[in-house]
Amino acid sequence: MATERTLALIKPDAVESKIEGDVLAMICQSGLNILAIKKVKLSASEAALFYAVHDGKPFFADLTSFISSGPLYAVALEGENGVVSWRTLMGATNPAEAAEGTIRKRFGKAINRNVVHGSDSVENAKIEMAIFFSELEYVK
Ligand code: ATP
Ligand code: MG
Repeated sequence: MATERTLALIKPDAVESKIEGDVLAMICQSGLNILAIKKVKLSASEAALFYAVHDGKPFFADLTSFISSGPLYAVALEGENGVVSWRTLMGATNPAEAAEGTIRKRFGKAINRNVVHGSDSVENAKIEMAIFFSELEYVK
């Protein structure tokens, strides 16, 4: 297996519910290494850029207004098989379908309030991480 980097977001619903510490604890206990972390509030246009791949879908307006509705944490992660490892810890997009022990099963309220984001490929992870971090900000 390869060591991969991926981007996690701890979304505004998690910050609103004050569970970002619980999510970070699950990340640390999973063995994924945090290379960088930043609290940010996206503008509407930054949200549209981040979710450009979903432009045109029926949930795009809700998605971009939600992700820009309050502070979130961007977290650059690294680990063995990092992209899939993080998505496995997140659980299924719809918390109702997420496996036991996953973040979305534990904390997710609905498909559009599902606590965390994870990149879906190494290529997209690079693009997404560059939105939030410069290379100089990664600490091993
Ligand atoms: P993320 O990209 O946030 O890690 P994901 O990769 O599991 O989640 P995507 O298909 O990329 O899921 O969808 C991006 C986000 O859009 C989801 O996290 C969810 O909040 C929202 N979303 C996806 N499908 C729907 C839907 N059918 N209705 C409402 N919101 C949705
Ligand atoms: Mg996705």
